[in-house]
Amino acid sequence: MAVVKVSLIDALREHFGFDSFKGNQEIIIKSILSGKDTFVIMPTGGGKSLCYQLPALMSPGCALIVSPLIALMKNQVDLVRSYSSKDNVAHFLNSTLSKAQIKKVRTDLLSGKTKMLYVAPETLTKQENLDFFRELEISFIAVDEAHCISEWGHDFRPEYRRLKEMIEMINGDLPIIALTATATPKVQSDIVKNLALRNPEVFLSSFNRPNLYYEIRPKRKKDQTIREIVKFIHQHKGKSGIIYTLNRKTTEELADMLVANNIKAVAYHAGLDATTRAQRQDMFLHEEVEVIVATIAFGMGIDKPDVRFVIHYNIPKSLENYYQETGRAGRDGLEGICVCFYSYKDVQKLEHLMRDKPLSEREMGAQLINETVAYAESSACRRKVILHYFGEKYEDGQCNGACDNCRNPKEKIEVKNRVVIVLKAIKALEERFGSEYVVNIITGKVNPQITTYQHNQLEVFGEGKEFDAHFWNSLIRQMMLEDLIEKDIEEYGLLKITDKGSKFLKKPYSIMVSLNHQFEED
Ligand code: ADP
Ligand code: ZN
Repeated sequence: MAVVKVSLIDALREHFGFDSFKGNQEIIIKSILSGKDTFVIMPTGGGKSLCYQLPALMSPGCALIVSPLIALMKNQVDLVRSYSSKDNVAHFLNSTLSKAQIKKVRTDLLSGKTKMLYVAPETLTKQENLDFFRELEISFIAVDEAHCISEWGHDFRPEYRRLKEMIEMINGDLPIIALTATATPKVQSDIVKNLALRNPEVFLSSFNRPNLYYEIRPKRKKDQTIREIVKFIHQHKGKSGIIYTLNRKTTEELADMLVANNIKAVAYHAGLDATTRAQRQDMFLHEEVEVIVATIAFGMGIDKPDVRFVIHYNIPKSLENYYQETGRAGRDGLEGICVCFYSYKDVQKLEHLMRDKPLSEREMGAQLINETVAYAESSACRRKVILHYFGEKYEDGQCNGACDNCRNPKEKIEVKNRVVIVLKAIKALEERFGSEYVVNIITGKVNPQITTYQHNQLEVFGEGKEFDAHFWNSLIRQMMLEDLIEKDIEEYGLLKITDKGSKFLKKPYSIMVSLNHQFEED
């Protein structure tokens, strides 16, 4: 690709007026400029856009940027144009343009003045566009919001699945840069596979938000929970906060209750008309209300830096959602308190919501909910559980009491011998089963599958029967956090022993863990 004549930092100054790169930006840009496939995982606000915008401006030809949201495309383009004196430096091409506008875009592209073209995946399904792009000098392809490619991501878009195929029709040699703000290891692997990234350079930024305090509270009777919330808000008088609930009705009810308790609050959900929604959003931004009680419809593209708390009245449907939603607190780097109310009834409600979905989607949804339940019930550092979910290692003791479990640690017990039992069971099962099956073996439960495979003949069968399934599940979770075992990414759920686990098995050492919280329903 391009021979870079000016230094990157000079180019950064010239095009954006910034004095230094943020985080990994510089090495990411070098990677894409050298023609390598590049994969960027960086939390929101980390500065992803610049990672493709700057190389686009520096390379001959035009970069194609695939973006899923037509509504955001125009903003992006306006933003790029605001940095440049030339309006035709960036364009977008999607179904909202008129014939005349499309013609203008094409003329600019052909003249070589346009350095960035934002396209929707749909745009790439049209043969005439592909034919046109084939004639054009294209510098590279950027795939924004790349998690949309995976059914395991929080925003699956089937059209993303065909991207590679369409890119190949333009030019299979083009370097690809994929970017996303959240990707679990499973989603990461889907992205690399589906885009067929060739030996990509992967840049994973930390997802840790040290200024956020995480807490789980048991959810009891409705009026008691509401009293707790009211008390919490009174303790944080005058501060801005968001309360997330599962459905529209609850947002209204809860907002009314808060108002009745002298709290300036409004409800926000997709059932309100656009004007009311915009009004309420503005009221929140301008602090005419303190609290917005919302369904997850609220928050997309909202940028209020001083949201001081995010309360979940119901547990979210995945840890990824939880991370995104709590991520709206403390954007300014100052205090952000994240409290989630948890009850098993809400878990069942979430499962019930999926009842009409196809089986595969229900199974996937159930797995995601499972992770949230594990998070809620865990007595390990909340931060560690969240970061582990995103494939990030986090050592104990760094949280500094910024979660309920670190602030009030549960008593720890010695589990050396029991960890050995779990590892022995997984090994005896040749790493071909998930945790439910492994627990059945350890606790000595017989079922038709176990009898068929004659796994009840294994030495480890029933070796841990003095403890119940709850205990073993809890221990298995802890062992994953400690990196002794892992779930297979490709065949989701199969337990595998890590290198650390194999070493432990050869020479067991003392391991102290605290077991899961047990929440009682009332
Ligand atoms: P993301 O897409 O990762 O959420 P953005 O690309 O929107 O993040 O960038 C977040 C903010 O950071 C933007 O306001 C952007 O202008 C700013 N930004 C990006 N890179 C730099 C930099 N090197 N120096 C200063 N500000 C930057
Ligand atoms: Zn912690």
